[in-house]
Amino acid sequence: MIAAVSALLAIVLIAIPEEETDGNELISIDASFEIVDQSKLMLHDLQSLSPNTTQPLVNTTQNTSIASNSYDIPAPEALVKKTSAPTFKKQSVEVKPGDSLSKILSNAGISAQDIYKVSQADKKQKTLVQMRPGQTIQFTTNEASGELSELTLTLNRLDSVTFERNEDEYKRSEASRTPDISQTYKEAEINNSLFVDGLRAGIDQPLLIELANIFGWDIDFALDIRKGDNLSVLYEEKFLDGEKIANGNIIAAQFINNGRTYQAIRYKTDKGANYYTPDGLAMRKAFIRTPVDFTRISSKFNPNRLHPIFKTSRPHRGVDYAAASGTPVKAAGDGKVSFAGKQNGYGNVVIIDHGRGYQTLYAHLKGFARGIKRGSRVQQGKIIAYVGQTGWATGPHLHYEFRINGTHKNPVTVKLPNDDPMPKNDLKEFLPYAKKVVATLANSHSPSFAQKLASLKE
Ligand SMILES: [Zn+2]
Repeated sequence: MIAAVSALLAIVLIAIPEEETDGNELISIDASFEIVDQSKLMLHDLQSLSPNTTQPLVNTTQNTSIASNSYDIPAPEALVKKTSAPTFKKQSVEVKPGDSLSKILSNAGISAQDIYKVSQADKKQKTLVQMRPGQTIQFTTNEASGELSELTLTLNRLDSVTFERNEDEYKRSEASRTPDISQTYKEAEINNSLFVDGLRAGIDQPLLIELANIFGWDIDFALDIRKGDNLSVLYEEKFLDGEKIANGNIIAAQFINNGRTYQAIRYKTDKGANYYTPDGLAMRKAFIRTPVDFTRISSKFNPNRLHPIFKTSRPHRGVDYAAASGTPVKAAGDGKVSFAGKQNGYGNVVIIDHGRGYQTLYAHLKGFARGIKRGSRVQQGKIIAYVGQTGWATGPHLHYEFRINGTHKNPVTVKLPNDDPMPKNDLKEFLPYAKKVVATLANSHSPSFAQKLASLKE
């Protein structure tokens, strides 16, 4: 009995450690081998270099193949030779107009064979063929053989393509750097125009155009910007090596226009990234607010000016945008053209039926875009005609009317229907996110901006 137990114990004692070492080896085989070997080699090196080495190497470790082999430790001179082996020359060339890969490399004395082999490695992608002036080529050659050992084309601050020699051909690889992204807050009070005051507040023009697009569904930037309107924006900036290289996305923005406040938050769903109100309604509407590119509108057209033919101030049931003759006019929303032709005072006119009782009218047109006639379907933003001064018009301008169930509405201020609500699943995640972003915006506001907001809420 005792013998049986002790035999069992012995088996257990033997079996457990074995199992453990097996396990360890399986887990850490890759991670530990190199480290162990290197430290052993270092120890060996130290011992071999030390003048009074007496201890045999074998005693420092047990088993392992390294320790049990007799060592061929390189002598110090051999080590020196090894590290100084082939020398390479690194060159950097900026691509100039008219340059090509073969021109640059043959100028540097690289063989036609190597040039051919590199271009073969880029056969599919053709990145090297498309190199542009201002980009940089860096290449390394073996000083002894003159062989091209590596070549890198830097495409821009972030992207590069490298060709590495691998025996007799080149291996192509692409690399992209990821910029650091930080959030920035800016605000502006508008006293002249969105662009003048925005730029003065340090907001770049592309960012201002984006802001105009985000709020352009609610605010008529041509006719409805008031002195004292306010704008605030939270956006991303991209940095590389501590230097700003580009703007990222607008995270959120707020516009106080004529006593009303609008907030927009960027959010990505399966359908892509869009801007939403903090309640999850799309900023994008079924209708464009201003059917002419607002940057091309020269001034407010005065509709109350006495008409040269009637010498009276007639009631005006639309809005007039003064723009150069020939400026494109866009369909305000999806719909069907119900009229395209001449009508007395309107001159050339297009009327679009948008369904659900909505109609838009565009008058004094110089001409119609191709394919625009009664019955044609149009999509929001499609060019339907061009600004002119046909009919009773005193100068080139677009006369624009917005009707709901036959009643004229002021196109500048009419509340436009939302067409694209956020899917319910996304809304659940969006709402708490929006709350956080709105709080970040609020915390960033200057005292005067905050005061203005507070006065609006009263
Ligand atoms: Zn008019």
